[in-house]
Amino acid sequence: MKVLNLINGVLSPASSNKWLDLTNPSLGKVYGQLPRSGSDEVELSVSAASSAFKSWAATPVGERAACMSRLADLVQKNADMLAEAESRDNGKPISLAATVDIPRAEKNLRFYASAIQHFASESHLMEGVALNYTLRKPLGVVACISPWNLPLYLFTWKIAPALVSGNCVVAKPSEITPVTAYLLSTWVKEAGFPDGVFNIIHGLGSEVGDALVRHPKISAVSFTGGTTTGAHIASVTAPKFKKLSLELGGKNAAIIFSDCDFNDALSTTLLSSFANQGQICLCGSRILVEKSIYPRFRDALVAKAKKMKVGDPMDPSTKMGAVVSSDHRDKILASIELAKSEGGKILCGGGTTSPEGLPHLENGYYIQPTIIEGLSPNCRVNQEEIFGPVVTIQPFENEEEALEMANNSVYGLAATVWTNDLKRAHRVSSELETGIVWVNCWLIRDLRTPFGGVKSSGVGREGGFEALQFFTEPQNVCIKL
Ligand code: NAD
Repeated sequence: MKVLNLINGVLSPASSNKWLDLTNPSLGKVYGQLPRSGSDEVELSVSAASSAFKSWAATPVGERAACMSRLADLVQKNADMLAEAESRDNGKPISLAATVDIPRAEKNLRFYASAIQHFASESHLMEGVALNYTLRKPLGVVACISPWNLPLYLFTWKIAPALVSGNCVVAKPSEITPVTAYLLSTWVKEAGFPDGVFNIIHGLGSEVGDALVRHPKISAVSFTGGTTTGAHIASVTAPKFKKLSLELGGKNAAIIFSDCDFNDALSTTLLSSFANQGQICLCGSRILVEKSIYPRFRDALVAKAKKMKVGDPMDPSTKMGAVVSSDHRDKILASIELAKSEGGKILCGGGTTSPEGLPHLENGYYIQPTIIEGLSPNCRVNQEEIFGPVVTIQPFENEEEALEMANNSVYGLAATVWTNDLKRAHRVSSELETGIVWVNCWLIRDLRTPFGGVKSSGVGREGGFEALQFFTEPQNVCIKL
């Protein structure tokens, strides 16, 4: 498997001919290569995008939307192949890639192909004096940088609003999971995008990613990834007054009140803890349970987690696959050791494993679903993002304490609240310092709604018209009457 860059409509390796290895996490084996691009590729792609901008920005909205719809058709047509590629590259169960990642990638493209045609700007009439109307103009050349956990899903979530609103894009997928973005790049011409409008370059974040965000012709950066990387990008781009959208880490709380629907809360919390091996920024990694039901809920959750079988990601019945890399596996294991040193009791899991009866997978990066209790809310394991199949569980006395514990975090991405008391649901939701709250559910997503976090979880919002606003600059025109 050889991944290539897409620059000005041409698929090519890095000019240095340097390569990075692609690893299959389920086997712990190298299975291909991707270009180790650098500032040459940034220069070439930004220059191609700059040349293409004027004409793309002037292309009627309907035509831009049609290119995006055709790209969505190609994703749909190749969905099975994309799901297999995503699972191989990331270690996630193929069932998840086939039912969540790839269908959602297609939906992202279709959603923005449609949304741009309903996007409107405002006018303000000053009777007898003047008429103001606000144009929304594309920004120029923008950078879209995405992480490895939901590779094509998060990649398309950025490039779709950027392109339909008339920008030219230089996108950089994660070097850990570049394959589905590469496959997408092979269909960009067929979808009808003119050369230079949509470029995809591969390589290390610290090299090609850094050169991209620093490039003077990049007018905006849409980034999803870790908080430390986001802070670095902000420090480089803010003094240049580039527009920034940052979707960063999380340490989300699941708050379970005693009046909840117990079985619903239990099965969804299992999912919100371990889906995609806990590698979703929206996973609930701090489970807070009202004292009166704490022992019953804890024991039932542990029993369910113990039954979860880590399996071959390519087996359609597998619910839990491999974590993304050996480095990430080691980081997760170090967090489990830290939990022990902080006085945590491992209720289940706590180490590596490998799918039963499949010796060819024994070098893969598998971690058991792990639940830890007995840690204080302020300890490092309850404060730092782990981003793996590891959760903590803690009891709370009352609503006030639950809120205090949930908000005791530098992060503020999402929370779930489990209660059948509607007034409490509203009260607690409005007091939570997060960008997203789910009540009696998790991960239900309406693409029209704002998505993003507060505090160290990010700046700005994606989703719906918010993303179209981000990727356009308002210009007010005032005409004297
Ligand atoms: P990461 O920050 O290491 O990398 C993300 C992307 O940034 C990659 O493409 C990487 O190559 C690039 N990058 C790295 N250094 C860069 C630099 N100096 N300049 C420009 N680009 C650079 O994150 P990751 O490990 O790929 O992803 C996991 C993180 O992403 C977790 O913290 C998770 O919470 C977060 N995440 C957040 C959301 C959200 O919506 N808030 C969604 C998914 C993942």
